[in-house]
Amino acid sequence: MSTHAPGHRFETLRRKMVQQQLTGVADPRVREAMGKVPREHFVPGVMKPRAYEDGPLPIAAGQTISQPRIVARMTELLDLHGDEKVLEIGTGSGYQTAVLALLAREVVSVERHGELARAAHKRLNELGLGGVTVLVSDGTLGRSDYAPFGAVLVTAGAPEVPQRLIEQLEVGGRLVIPVGDAKDQKLVRVTREPDGSDGSLSWREERFDDCRFVPLVGRFGWKES
Ligand code: SAH
Repeated sequence: MSTHAPGHRFETLRRKMVQQQLTGVADPRVREAMGKVPREHFVPGVMKPRAYEDGPLPIAAGQTISQPRIVARMTELLDLHGDEKVLEIGTGSGYQTAVLALLAREVVSVERHGELARAAHKRLNELGLGGVTVLVSDGTLGRSDYAPFGAVLVTAGAPEVPQRLIEQLEVGGRLVIPVGDAKDQKLVRVTREPDGSDGSLSWREERFDDCRFVPLVGRFGWKES
């Protein structure tokens, strides 16, 4: 992967980020991927010096690029083996998309803001990342035209788990999503299980870290205010 920022400065900051910020993330593949993706490529020009800070940063359209430790943690919870087709909801800057692209076979990423989707698509292309499709749509509906998915990652906060996203998982597939109110959410992991004998949808739910995301706005998310 080529970085477009000059010099070793960003590389040093990136190595430090992995060592000092990703303390709660043990998966070596996730740590390696986080050590490869040039985060400075995904933040606005004036924010580049702050690209490796331990926090979220503003991007366009009033949205944010998530904190590195949260990106890593969510990726770890997806438990990717490398052969999955992954659906990401909330492309934003495309940073999380790039991390997923290094760890899965194919990534379909959807974003409701056309402006963000176009910019993210351009950045991902510039890095020469293959196997990525960026689409503009309401992610709360999933993407039945690309389903089923081995994993689904939602990077915006939802009031509840949209059932359609569970329906679009393969059996054994994992969905990771922040669920809660507008201010506080918890990371929830849903693992799809074989349908019941009556054909009913079946899954297991686990709860993890506290987090705070921008809202998931759509038909099965928050209503636009
Ligand atoms: N993964 C991103 C984080 C972006 S913040 C990154 O690494 O930069 C969450 C994003 O979700 C925002 O860009 C927001 O516009 C988008 N979003 C919110 N609701 C959505 C929906 N229903 N469908 C698709 N995208 C949505």
